[in-house]
Amino acid sequence: MENAHIKTPLEVGEYLRTDLRNGLTENEARVRKEKHGLNVISKEKSDSPVIIFFRQFNDFIIWVLIAAAFISGIILKEYIDMWAIIFVLFLNAILGFSQEYKAEKALESLKKMTAPTARVIRGGEEKIISSSEVVTGDIVLISGGDAIPADGRVVGVQSLRIDESLLTGESVSVNKTAEKLLSEKVTLGERKNMVFLGTNATLGRGRIVITNIGDHTEIGKIAKYVQIPKEKTPLQKELKKTGQIIAIFCIFLSVLIFALGYFRGFELAEMFLLAVSLAVASIPEGLPAAITVVLAIGVQRMAKKNAIVRRLHAVETLGATTYICSDKTGTLTQNKMKVQALAVGGEIHGPAEKAFKLMSENEEIKKRINAILTVSALCNETRIVDGAYQGDPTEIALVEFAEGFGFKKSDLKKKLPLVREIPFDSERKMMSTVHQDKEGFLILTKGAPEKVLNLSKKISKNSSDLTGEEKEEIFQLNNRMASDGLRLLGIAYKKVNKLPEEISNENIEKDLIFMGVVGMSDPPRPEVLEALSLTKKAGISVSMVTGDHLLTAKTIAQKLKLLDGRDVVEGKTIEEMSEDELESKVEDIAVYARVDPIHKVRIVNALKKRGHITAMTGDGVNDAPAVKLSDIGVAMGKTGTDVTREASDMVLADDNFATIVNAIFEGRLIFSNIKKFVNFLLSCNISEVGLMLIAMLSGLPIPLFPVQILWINLVTDSFPALALGVDPPSGNLIEKPPRKKSEHILTLNDFFKISWEGMVLVAFTFIVFLMSIKVFHFNIETSRTIVFSTMVMSQLFHAFNFRGVPFYSKKIIINKFLVLAFIFSFIMQVLITSLPGLNVILHSVPLDLVQWLMVFGFSFSSFLLVNTILSLTKE
Ligand code: ATP
Repeated sequence: MENAHIKTPLEVGEYLRTDLRNGLTENEARVRKEKHGLNVISKEKSDSPVIIFFRQFNDFIIWVLIAAAFISGIILKEYIDMWAIIFVLFLNAILGFSQEYKAEKALESLKKMTAPTARVIRGGEEKIISSSEVVTGDIVLISGGDAIPADGRVVGVQSLRIDESLLTGESVSVNKTAEKLLSEKVTLGERKNMVFLGTNATLGRGRIVITNIGDHTEIGKIAKYVQIPKEKTPLQKELKKTGQIIAIFCIFLSVLIFALGYFRGFELAEMFLLAVSLAVASIPEGLPAAITVVLAIGVQRMAKKNAIVRRLHAVETLGATTYICSDKTGTLTQNKMKVQALAVGGEIHGPAEKAFKLMSENEEIKKRINAILTVSALCNETRIVDGAYQGDPTEIALVEFAEGFGFKKSDLKKKLPLVREIPFDSERKMMSTVHQDKEGFLILTKGAPEKVLNLSKKISKNSSDLTGEEKEEIFQLNNRMASDGLRLLGIAYKKVNKLPEEISNENIEKDLIFMGVVGMSDPPRPEVLEALSLTKKAGISVSMVTGDHLLTAKTIAQKLKLLDGRDVVEGKTIEEMSEDELESKVEDIAVYARVDPIHKVRIVNALKKRGHITAMTGDGVNDAPAVKLSDIGVAMGKTGTDVTREASDMVLADDNFATIVNAIFEGRLIFSNIKKFVNFLLSCNISEVGLMLIAMLSGLPIPLFPVQILWINLVTDSFPALALGVDPPSGNLIEKPPRKKSEHILTLNDFFKISWEGMVLVAFTFIVFLMSIKVFHFNIETSRTIVFSTMVMSQLFHAFNFRGVPFYSKKIIINKFLVLAFIFSFIMQVLITSLPGLNVILHSVPLDLVQWLMVFGFSFSSFLLVNTILSLTKE
């Protein structure tokens, strides 16, 4: 629909054939969805499987190999070799394809898990649906923190503010209205009665009718031109670079050997074959595909454990996390709030039930408690969805508390209809509602006690103004309740005959009458204690960052043993610190209380300057900048806002701190597994190059043909390498300090290690070749088949060395995928050397039992030797 901004809400409703009160019927919504499709912006079509398959050949190395195949066939007339190389490259492409395809599907399904939802009214009932299901004419309810699901015309507002920076570049959020505009030609930024897809509600509430969806939205029109390219993770980039360096070096080496051999009078064809074999042997062509798969498998595993990773690179960073800044409410605690105490008239009454008795005993107290119960029931944003209260657990606890005393929200709302709402936000730490009553208006306020008290004038209608002393007394009471770990809410109200002309926070929330303080319990999550002790072992520091009272936060921190002799400070204290001061103190602070979202940004910055890799949690809309800035932004799946989720790297489906800790250990495991198979593949490649070189230098015939080397790489690159990618933890991943983010996947130490491991394999395969020819006088085909099979078996055995345990330990075969990969690859090896037809392609011949025993004996011995050296040198 065009020009909805110059029409009244009614006209828009009529045009879109929708009921502004009850919305569309489910039936009508379905018809519209079928007709106009889903509310999604069409992406450039993701690559078809055929394209993904052919992309596997689009690699410099593969081109070299294809060229080599054709040279073997057309110039050297080695037709079998030509077809064999092409066949193996084909197999390789199938493997690469299936890996990439699976990885892409896995990531897509994860994306769906964090897709935003929308609250719509259909058939008169409120429902939560996926934003993609929204259709034109739907009535959508918006509140602070929601992402706007499509373009819409505002039909009702309560202080609705929208951040439209993505669309208009304007960083200040805009107030919305339901009024119709007079001029048709206004910019998007000026359409104060419209909301747009891609923008976010920062505050307040609104009701909109959807006018355009998907590609027809304003952002949809632009988005077609700005497709974001898929980014490789730092690890993938690093490996690609490492692979290229190795490849260039090896091609150089091959050309050199080719030239040398040629000048020494070797046959051209033979030298060419050798050079190609060397290049094939040394280039780690399987690495990038395998990394993607391991990352994707890891991400899926994490999702099963409630940590939904939104960006692949987060998996790598997670393992390097050194500092976690966690919210308190709902993350460290259970978010199961219950009113436990009331501070009314200078005394604390608790547990709350006792207050009921008091109500009938003392008139003044009774009046106050009545007021507190009215505010508890009415001053909130809870709503009933499917028969249960939904919304902020703090507010639900209050509503249920009031209901327990017969103060039912729905009944009271009829008597005292809502006129206006000043919503809660974590900076103001309070909220108010304005209601109509018989004589005028009632203003109900609740919030952090000190904030509410500051805006209060009296403690009863007829009392004189609050003195500093009286305020101090109330603070003392608060401190007592907070020291018990209770979450506090100050309650106040005021009656006015007339509302001020211009309604704003300042002229509504002033001269209030302070009624008392409600204290709520929210016990720590039991699993957090264990998770915190693990972080300690793992060298990861944890701080609590909360909007709650200092003493409440401190008590909970004590219960969780999180303090460790570190400080507890308030947000305003760090506000007074300079950047340098905060940087020097930041590691000594365990709890930040009464924090505003802006403080979180400063904390992350200070930690970053101290060289920390920081995970920061956030739920509210204002937390998004800090979440975005941190190395691992963590958003809440249950209670968080769309905006923070969009800014985050990882979403916790269960809002649980323990899930972050698990995810960090998963991250460490994935990194260590990637390291394992990269080392494994490279040490195997070194063994192949080494064998070729040493055979040539010693004057023996070429031990392995290119196609055999391709086969070896195919066998080892696939199942055993992938099995190592999902290896269960071998060493103690937890008790190690975090890896440095700058640490390369291959350190100098790794190069040294894989070099000598490769050399051991070279030694054993060379000796078996030498013995076959010189001692047993087998013919060259048999000798080659023996060395070929020994190389395959040595590498298969060698994979078990990466489990990091001695050969006699039961744990060596704990990875069942590795065992299966071993058995499968072994059977394949027997088949391709024994089956007539197949073995011709791979230049091999059937071996007898004694020859197989040789293969086994030598490959197993190389494994034993490497394993023993590793065990002896293990620090
Ligand atoms: P965390 O960041 O650990 O989740 P929090 O949820 O306790 O902390 P806020 O939600 O910002 O932090 O709450 C800060 C303070 O604001 C609370 O201590 C309470 O006094 C007050 N408060 C919280 N929720 C509401 C609400 N819905 N209405 C009014 N005041 C509230």
